Amino acid sequence: MNDDVSVYAVPMTTRFRRITVREGLLLSGDAGWGEFCPFTEYDDRESAPWLASAVEAARLGWPEPVRDRVPVNCTVPAVDAATAHRIVRESGCTTAKVKVADLPGSLPEDEERVEAVRDALGPSGAVRVDANGAWTVSEAVHAIGQLERAAGGLEYVEQPCPEIEQLAQVRRRVDVRIAADESIRRAEDPMRVVLAEAADVAVLKVAPLGGVRRSLEIAAACGLPVVVSSAVETSVGLAAGLALAGALPELPFACGLGTASLLSDDVVDPGERLVPDSGSLPVPRRAPDPVRRAALAADDERTAWWRERFDRVAELLGGQ
Ligand SMILES: [Mg+2]
Repeated sequence: MNDDVSVYAVPMTTRFRRITVREGLLLSGDAGWGEFCPFTEYDDRESAPWLASAVEAARLGWPEPVRDRVPVNCTVPAVDAATAHRIVRESGCTTAKVKVADLPGSLPEDEERVEAVRDALGPSGAVRVDANGAWTVSEAVHAIGQLERAAGGLEYVEQPCPEIEQLAQVRRRVDVRIAADESIRRAEDPMRVVLAEAADVAVLKVAPLGGVRRSLEIAAACGLPVVVSSAVETSVGLAAGLALAGALPELPFACGLGTASLLSDDVVDPGERLVPDSGSLPVPRRAPDPVRRAALAADDERTAWWRERFDRVAELLGGQ
């Protein structure tokens, strides 16, 4: 490996997936920079599409976009109603994604939270909720009815239950759109969701699907409207998500790419950070800033771990 590879470690502002520090490897090529950041518990096989995505960014670049800005949602965690109201107002976004079903029995608080979010957005805003697969089918049907009333209409419900067949059952019993998120982790998953008639919307993340071109093919093949979401990357990786959102022929919903603020710092120049402005982000290329890259460099042990992982996964990809 050459010097155009570096490993970063950036503390998170909010704990996510039980991690407090986000790590990854940046690599450069003729077309720019790519970010390789599969979560540390992923094995090499599961990490292979993440590397394909980073290599695409570095060596090949991305297809021409058809739009130059992408609307993004703000994210409201499982907080009290007043805090939820403030988060939405401060975001400048017209779409809010609200975490629900965080704990068993939380439905009354969930209703208060979505009501406050609707109040903050006004009638023209869009409220979506994300249960991260926490409900059973019957719990989902009941909760969705209550939340739809409290919110005065929901744009969609993301991953109400864990399994694809459960999503299909819920979808037959409610009028609100169902979005599949955790059910889509590999390239073949969107088609499974479509065949099961389990969702109206597909949440796609570029890195686990193997890059922008691959994601465009998957989106075209499955035929569902797509919401592009991040895997909590730095601004280098977020740019790949924005490249996909920018190149999709249709983009009917705001994307989940406004996640830079979950990281306490970034590898790009502070002025280049992909932080939403008035509820949208540009479709850019982002190169890391040498000063930030050095400041956020992981320690020797973690750097060695990531470089070894990179080499193993590269060998695996090459052999496929
Ligand atoms: Mg989700």
